[in-house]
Amino acid sequence: MTMLKDPSQKYRKFKPLHLPNRQWPSKTLDKVPRWLATDLRDGNQSLPDPMDGEGKWRYFQMLVQLGYKEIEISYPSSGATDFDFTKKLVSTPGAVPSDVWLQVLSPCRRELIRTTVDSLRGAKKAILHLYVATSPCFQQVVFGMTNEQQIALAVDCTRYARSITKDDPNSGVEQWAYEFSPETFSDSDKDFVIQICEAVKAAWEPSVDNPIIFNLPATVEMSTPNVYADQIEYFCTNMTEREKICVSLHPHNDRGCAVAAAELAQMAGADRVEGTLFGNGERTGNVDLVTLALNLYTQGIHPGIDFSDINSVIDIVETSNKIPVHQRAPYGGELVCCAFSGSHQDAIKKGFSAREAAGLSKTDPWIMPYLPLDPRDIGRNYEAIIRVNSQSGKGGVAWMIKRTLELDLPRGLQIVFSKIVQKHTDMLGRELQAAEIKALFLDTYHLEKNPRFHLVDYEINADRTTSPAPAAEAGRTASSRNLRRRFKGVIEIDGNEYTIEGIGNGALSSLANALKSLGIDLDVADYKEHSIGAGRETKAATYIECTAANSNLKVWGVGIHQDVVQASLIALLSAASSFLDSRSASPVPFRPKKSTAADQHLVPTAEAGPSRIEPLRRQVLAENEPASGADVQGSQVVARLEEAAEKGEANGHAK
Ligand SMILES: [Zn+2]
Repeated sequence: MTMLKDPSQKYRKFKPLHLPNRQWPSKTLDKVPRWLATDLRDGNQSLPDPMDGEGKWRYFQMLVQLGYKEIEISYPSSGATDFDFTKKLVSTPGAVPSDVWLQVLSPCRRELIRTTVDSLRGAKKAILHLYVATSPCFQQVVFGMTNEQQIALAVDCTRYARSITKDDPNSGVEQWAYEFSPETFSDSDKDFVIQICEAVKAAWEPSVDNPIIFNLPATVEMSTPNVYADQIEYFCTNMTEREKICVSLHPHNDRGCAVAAAELAQMAGADRVEGTLFGNGERTGNVDLVTLALNLYTQGIHPGIDFSDINSVIDIVETSNKIPVHQRAPYGGELVCCAFSGSHQDAIKKGFSAREAAGLSKTDPWIMPYLPLDPRDIGRNYEAIIRVNSQSGKGGVAWMIKRTLELDLPRGLQIVFSKIVQKHTDMLGRELQAAEIKALFLDTYHLEKNPRFHLVDYEINADRTTSPAPAAEAGRTASSRNLRRRFKGVIEIDGNEYTIEGIGNGALSSLANALKSLGIDLDVADYKEHSIGAGRETKAATYIECTAANSNLKVWGVGIHQDVVQASLIALLSAASSFLDSRSASPVPFRPKKSTAADQHLVPTAEAGPSRIEPLRRQVLAENEPASGADVQGSQVVARLEEAAEKGEANGHAK
């Protein structure tokens, strides 16, 4: 079997309607149509495993909650399931809100129409939907009838239906409406369709208040959507008493253009759309009502349907249909609010930052790269927007950390950590979840527990031994402002406590100086800090990039604490830990260098266990070693940075 070299022999081009004066291309879509959800009829009929009564009940209740006012619930003459479901719905008090129309389908046969109408006894509002074949293909191939016979049949059925519905005071239904479908409209002769619909209209005698619904199905989609729009415009402009007619669309999706067909056909004059949630239905399905509704929404028009919790809708749809909603289904698909590519992630992250910086609220105009809809409007959270796989860049990783830990990583740290993440995604061969990236970050920068370094106790004082205190004026306290700082404290390393002491221009450099006595010689190359949270709960996050004196190695440390000074000390110890982890290829216990200082505490009492850092991260850290030694003027940098930090503290950081 091969594809034909010349498919034109087998497949004929669809002959479009000649409509040179078409008006619809200059129209815009700015009105919400009447929606008819046919999930429980057209959709359900197409399922390999149709819903049972209970399933239909749950689905019906969801449609009502979403806001659908016209719901095609069944084909009652098809069998007990649909008949019983209809009966149960109309006889259960409170099951159907008084403003919801129940629609049922029946073929044009008197006894079946009778059964259908009987099933509705007890309903408040009901739409009886009949159909007749009008397309030459169906008339001849399926039913073997002529145009005249079809018109006679349609008129007879309509008259009969009328006699047992709106003309029968004992029908048991408060209000009746009538829908007629020329089947299949899109494939039928347009003038014949007008002819049969005029005859049906005359038989039903609709009013302006209760118009007759002419449903015009593209039962099989056979042409480009503009051709369907032409057909609809032709129908709308050639029917008499247009004000007594509701023109309804029923597009299927064989060519993948059902949504476009429905939108263009509304521009061409249609008032109503029949479809299903996520486009379930025969073959490629009916038109997708979710897409149509949210297409309107993102043009600033509320569709009257509430998709603010789209995940719950998807749950019920998937459970009921036993068909998954495609991951890339417009709006609802699991992946449609996600970006994997690095450049997209960067752009989205910038978009959100700009929004935040401008203090924009949920209702302010939405200007966002790559996201046509604010995911929060349909109950999605921002965590899912950016997903991290091996193609993702630093932007995605930084976003995850921002969303999960409220940390704004400095650019340099973003680059280093995204490489660590990338190694993991490559190793695992899959994307990393937000929780995994968060855990990896906490572990890499020793934020939950620094397995090697722990600040047990410390004090930082003005150092009066190395620089004499400025002379005080008479009666005034001498300022310690220009004095250096002395760090004095107890650090636990690999389970052993060490008392250390050091002097520097500020807290950070005094600790760095103290660590030298343990053989850890780090210079601070970069320092960033910001606050997390607000009010009493505010914490400081500090990021320190250090260079090790004799190795050219650069490592990052991160510290979080209520007190900004302590946050910076923790960050330095975090960096010290990373430094120790990365400086050899195998885990080694820490051995402080023998100090000449009169410090007796520097001999550990026992060898500590192996490092907990996994070899992978060590490898990554080692790879980030610069090729040539950069001589950083560490102490000067630290002094400058500390000044900045202390200013930040003065600006209102909580202690
Ligand atoms: Zn259909």
